[in-house]
Order: sequence, then C-alpha cells, then structure tokens
Amino acid sequence: RQAKVGFIGLGLMGGPMAVNLIQKGHSVVVYDLSSKATEHLQDEGAEVAKSPAEVASKADRIISMLPNSEHVRTCYTADDGVFQSVLAGTLILDSSTIDPNVSKEMAALAVKKGAVFMDAPVSGGVPAAKGGTLTFMVGGEEQEFEAARELLSAMGKNIVLCGRVGSGQAVKICNNMLLAITMIGVSETMNLGMRLGLDPKVMAGTINTATGRCWSSDTYNPVPGVLPNVPSANDYQGGFLTALMLKDLGLAQNAAIATNSPTPLGAVAHQIYKLMSNTYLSERDFSSVFRFLQEPQKK
Ligand code: NAD
Repeated sequence: RQAKVGFIGLGLMGGPMAVNLIQKGHSVVVYDLSSKATEHLQDEGAEVAKSPAEVASKADRIISMLPNSEHVRTCYTADDGVFQSVLAGTLILDSSTIDPNVSKEMAALAVKKGAVFMDAPVSGGVPAAKGGTLTFMVGGEEQEFEAARELLSAMGKNIVLCGRVGSGQAVKICNNMLLAITMIGVSETMNLGMRLGLDPKVMAGTINTATGRCWSSDTYNPVPGVLPNVPSANDYQGGFLTALMLKDLGLAQNAAIATNSPTPLGAVAHQIYKLMSNTYLSERDFSSVFRFLQEPQKK
C-alpha cells in the first residue's frame, strides 16, 4: 500500500486543509458529497474517490472535516463508510467539531478494525485553514500522538494533545462557549457605551488596556469601524458563522447537562444565538451579535 492521506469533507475548512497537504508533498485521495468540491481538489492534484469506503481502502491515514456528529457517524458507519474497508494500522483524525461521545464511539469502532481514531478539532477559522496555521486540539493516546502531530503540522501551527479521545472536542466546545460569552459581553458593553455618547474606538482602545480586555474586544471587535480586517468591518460577511456557533453552544449545553455542571451564562449565550439564528444573521459571522443586540428589529 502506498503512503496516501485520505481526506473526507472538502468544505470551507476541509478544502484549503487538503490543498495544504498536497502542497506539502502528500499524496491525497479525497471524497465529498459535492462534486464541485472534489473537482477543485482534482485540479490541485488529488485523486477523487467515489465513497468514504474507497478512500479508506487507499489510505494509511484519514482526515475528516464534516459539519456535525450525524455527518461523522454516516461517513464512518454507513454501508459505503470508512469502517467498511479501513485497513489495520490506519490512523484516523477527525477534525470536525462534534459531540465528544461520538468521537469515543468512533474510536471504539476503529479499535475493532485494528485502526486508531483520534479527535482533532481546530481553532482558527478559514484564514488559518488557508494559511496552514490552525490550532489542533487532539484527543487520543500519547503513543499515537507523534504520528498525528507529524501529519497535522502540514495544516497547522499549534498541535496540542489535550487528553484521551474526546478531549480535543471537550476543549473546543469549552473554548467556544467562553468565546460566545465574551462576544456577547463585549457587544452589550460597547452598545451601552455608545448610547452613553462614547466614541467606540476610544472606548475599545481604553478597555483594551484595562481589565475588560479580551480577544473579542482587542482582536475581533464586533463594532464596525473599530478594527480593520475583521468581519464587523465587512458587514459581518465570512468568518465563523452564527449557525456554527449555535451548534457548538448546543454541544456545550448537552455536555453541561450530562455532567451536571452549572453553566448559566453558557445557557443564555445558547439562547441568544438560537434567537439570532432565526434571522438573516444566521449566515453571518457570530460577532454580528452586536447588531442583533443593537437593532434587532431592523433589516
Ligand atoms: P462546510 O459546510 O463548509 O463543509 C462541510 C463539507 O462536508 C461540505 O463540502 C459537504 O459537502 C461535506 N459533507 C457533508 N456530509 C458529507 C458526507 N457524509 N460525506 C462526505 N462529505 C460530506 O463546513 P466547514 O466550515 O468546513 O466546517 C467543518 C467543521 O469544522 C464543522 O464541524 C465546523 O464546526 C468546524 N469548524 C469550522 C470553522 C469555520 O470557521 N468555518 C472553524 C473551526 C471549526
């Protein structure tokens, strides 16, 4: 068997990640439901397979980058799924953001086939996927980590082993819950300050040297005109969509219920993003919560 990397799920994130693998010299075989996505990768030099099972039969390492838990289950366990034909010794890295319990389920099924499944969700968004600077949060066994790190370093800068399988997902959903909370906090604070007559640039600049400073304020400020080159400067186009943040907040709430953890702010954040996702802001960057709080009735 040739040393090939299989890549399944060539969307906004997976597409550029697979291109980076090819550019770093890997031989790549791909699959996506969308033929537009696979054609693009074919142009970049990838071999195109007809199913996840065909990818698995040709690869000794597999990466998947799919929307949610159900897509991952289907991709691995369907009749033409990865587990139909995965070869013993294959290393599987799932970079989708999903329920940590589904990662554990997939890892247990992989063991039965003599393969290794690790969760490796990412932080950084589309620009980092394109630039090969993603952070990977990996869950799995320490003795498998070196092989995972080697492959992931073609697509990312920081590759962190967070614990056993499912731990990468756990860190990811905790991080995104905190991110949503800080983004809402910055948004309502900025709106209040502006209604008190403050210039938003002066206000943000002061907060960023004071105790309220956080990433949502100093790097990704949600108020248009405060920072250049962020989604708020571009009518909240692109970036990390509200719909995806809602998904991650739902995963965090499921985890909170399962572990009996109080997450009052996480619960409110989930509900705010739920309401927002019923509007046109569903397909805008999640920092558009500023607009939602500022003028929910407009547009
Ligand atoms: P996307 O919707 O752009 O891409 C998903 C791709 O998977 C699509 O091309 C779709 O056709 C394909 N697909 C769906 N089901 C399939 C199946 N059964 N077999 C093969 N292909 C299938 O999504 P994305 O933005 O690339 O996100 C992927 C994952 O990464 C999500 O879990 C998301 O939460 C996470 N993530 C996204 C970002 C971001 O900024 N977009 C950042 C960090 C993490």
